[in-house]
Amino acid sequence: MVYFRTDEDSNDAIRKFMLPMDEKTFQTGLYQYKSAIYKTKAIDAGSTLMFNEDELRILVDNFDRIYGDNPELAKLLEVEELRELLGLLNNIDDPEVKRDLIANQFACHKMTRAEVRFADDLCQFWCSKCKRLFFEEEVQRKREYNVFKCPNDGRTLQITPIWVLKVETEKSPTTPLPVWISGANLSSLWDAWKNHTSAACPKCNKGVLNSYYSKNPARLMESSTIVCSNCKNEFRLYSANYSLTNASENLSQPFLVSTYSRNSLKLNNSNLASLLESSPCFDTSFVEEFLFAPEARIKEIVLGYLYGANITRTIKAKKFGRDIKTGALYLRLKSHYFETVSSYLKEVFKEHPSYYQKYQGVTATDKDLHKLVLHSLAHAFLTRLPAVSGVSLDSFSYIYDMINDAVLVYEEAPGGLGACIELSRFDEQKKEPIILEFFTKLRENIGSCTCDDRCKYCIATRGCQEWNEALSRFTLGPLLRLDAQDISWGF
Ligand SMILES: [Zn+2]
Ligand SMILES: [Zn+2]
Ligand SMILES: [Zn+2]
Ligand SMILES: [Zn+2]
Repeated sequence: MVYFRTDEDSNDAIRKFMLPMDEKTFQTGLYQYKSAIYKTKAIDAGSTLMFNEDELRILVDNFDRIYGDNPELAKLLEVEELRELLGLLNNIDDPEVKRDLIANQFACHKMTRAEVRFADDLCQFWCSKCKRLFFEEEVQRKREYNVFKCPNDGRTLQITPIWVLKVETEKSPTTPLPVWISGANLSSLWDAWKNHTSAACPKCNKGVLNSYYSKNPARLMESSTIVCSNCKNEFRLYSANYSLTNASENLSQPFLVSTYSRNSLKLNNSNLASLLESSPCFDTSFVEEFLFAPEARIKEIVLGYLYGANITRTIKAKKFGRDIKTGALYLRLKSHYFETVSSYLKEVFKEHPSYYQKYQGVTATDKDLHKLVLHSLAHAFLTRLPAVSGVSLDSFSYIYDMINDAVLVYEEAPGGLGACIELSRFDEQKKEPIILEFFTKLRENIGSCTCDDRCKYCIATRGCQEWNEALSRFTLGPLLRLDAQDISWGF
């Protein structure tokens, strides 16, 4: 049993340690440490994460608009109940009563400590020297280094690859290594696994199947072999529905939602729109507000997680979250932007054989259009921010707020990283605000990219929680003063 304290790095912690709401589900958040895989065993809840009415409203409304059509994800938040609560709050004046009601109905805690243990439901240990497979109780752990040693030869052990589901069969998305051995009886393999013993050899009936090697790790699947301890017969590993892969913590992906305090954006902010007045690369007439907010308050909550690789299961999690004060960019569009975009898209694609049809029925009130614009705008910021700030892409996150037609891009580290502030600064050499160059470059990128309307090359980013769906650089055309005939759809 291993303990990890998580309070030093709350950002990592809430993205790694996850427990299912349903106690019977064994698939929990995975955590990789020194090449071994651990599963979350327990999480200690710290203080309550408090939400005010506006924060809760932004959270619920956006969740519903973004994930409401996806039954798997929609089940992660009790939208109906929370709407009722919000309705109730409308009629209450006392802020303390409001706060209590929210805390009762939407209880979410910070994490203080997580307890993990070896993921023995998924992996075994394996020795690259003697090729033996071991269960956790058969090996020694060097406590000071947290490594596991082979009892035969002292070599540091590795963990076995695992099987991941590759076609939907409604079975478990992962299985351990020794349950798909050709020529052996499937149910006896499972029985052996559950008892933490090696299965008997179907050839000689004297030995056990307890050694493993892969003749060619680059072709893990085809060259994996299990060997009998007695007759040394070799058995292939095979499954029609599963493929063999290295186990990693990425098998559990947190599903995170965030909200923000609109009041916090007012603190010491700087007005970025005023730096862009009459810029040839940015049309401020579409913008209600565009700020750098150094003290933005963001709340992130893990509602669930996706478990698996090619085929995933959505698991509702015990809610844990964190709140941070950090640097952020906030851009709120005027509602007439969406009218402009809906006609712009028709204009851009008027000679395209199929997209013209696709955008023909789009109107300014279409919630999908709002989502497309805001999601694309958030991604557009992300693609350029690393270049101006020197801070890597995965240090940023975003919220797109469909209620306020706004996008908030923020630095994930508590206290911020001093990245977003760059856009409020002046470039002494060029004698112009840095933000001008930022949008000049962005405009060039978007105007000249030739990917199709899913924008896989220009504004797609790694780690998008919506798998880079609903992105279109074309929706940013009017904002960046790109004429419909100047934005290429070279596909
Ligand atoms: Zn060994
Ligand atoms: Zn044998
Ligand atoms: Zn593109
Ligand atoms: Zn995204």
